[in-house]
Formats: sequence, C-alpha cells, structure tokens
Amino acid sequence: MNGTRTFTMIKPDAVEGGHIGAILESINSNNFRIVAMKMSALSKVEAETFYAVHRERPFFADLVEYMTSGPIVAAVLEKDNAVEDFRTLIGATNPADAAEGTIRARFATSIAANAVHGSDSDENAAIEAAFHFAGREIF
Ligand code: UDP
Ligand code: MG
Repeated sequence: MNGTRTFTMIKPDAVEGGHIGAILESINSNNFRIVAMKMSALSKVEAETFYAVHRERPFFADLVEYMTSGPIVAAVLEKDNAVEDFRTLIGATNPADAAEGTIRARFATSIAANAVHGSDSDENAAIEAAFHFAGREIF
C-alpha cells in the first residue's frame, strides 16, 4: 500500500520569484493537506547532506550553491498516494519536459532552479521530513 505523506521544498528561485502563495494554492487545490511547514535557509553542509545521493553527479556543487542561495519553504503533505501524486503535480525535473499546468512548468526557470522538490519514495519522504522537522512540528 502506498503511503499518505510526502515532503516538499519550495526552492530559492520560487521563493525569490514571489511564487510561495501560488504554489501553496496549487498544493491545496490538488487535495494535499499541509501537516508541517516552515521557511528556513539551508547551510552548505545541510544542502550537501540532503542531496548526498547526488554527491558524484556533475551538477552537485552547483545544486548545493543554488539551494543555499536563499530561503526555502519546507513542508510535509498528506494525501492518499502522496509521493506519486505529488511527483505528477510538480512535473518533470527539467521544466522544458514538464507537462502543462504542473508546478515546474508554471514556475521553474531551469533544470537546476526548478521551483520545487518532491520526495521520490515513501522511505525518502520519511527521511526528508525528519531532516527538516522535529516530531512536534508535524501534525
Ligand atoms: N538537477 C540539476 N541538473 C540535472 C539534474 C538535477 O541541477 O541535470 C538538480 C535539480 O534541482 C533537481 C535536483 O538536482 O531537482 C535533484 O535531482 P533529481 O534527479 O533527484 O530530480 P527531482 O527528483 O528533483 O526531479
Ligand atoms: Mg529526486
């Protein structure tokens, strides 16, 4: 059975671009319930740790620099089939490939600055939520 929670970040480009409200509206109108949320800034070590799976990839250093370039909004979202349905709502990693109406198609500016993060599995959703939130901050 698929899990009911996923983890997301509104990334620095979308925060800087003034898109927090529109992205949260898309999240809510697609029947995700926000059960945790906060604005924060990732340190270099935190960004490296969060994206450790990509450590050997050529884009890793640029990704860390970008993710530490300004504040992000982290959230935990609840819905049936949350991980898969949220990946559908955000669209492909490269906004040029993202389906019309998806959050990345609407707000991303490049494959790196692609507006939002979405967990890729139930296991990673739990790990990523615990990385950003204490138990008492998730409802
Ligand atoms: N990324 C990048 N260049 C690439 C692939 C990915 O800058 O060629 C960045 C982008 O911000 C992406 C993140 O690294 O969201 C994590 O990559 P992943 O393949 O996990 O994509 P996602 O799961 O976010 O769609
Ligand atoms: Mg990913």
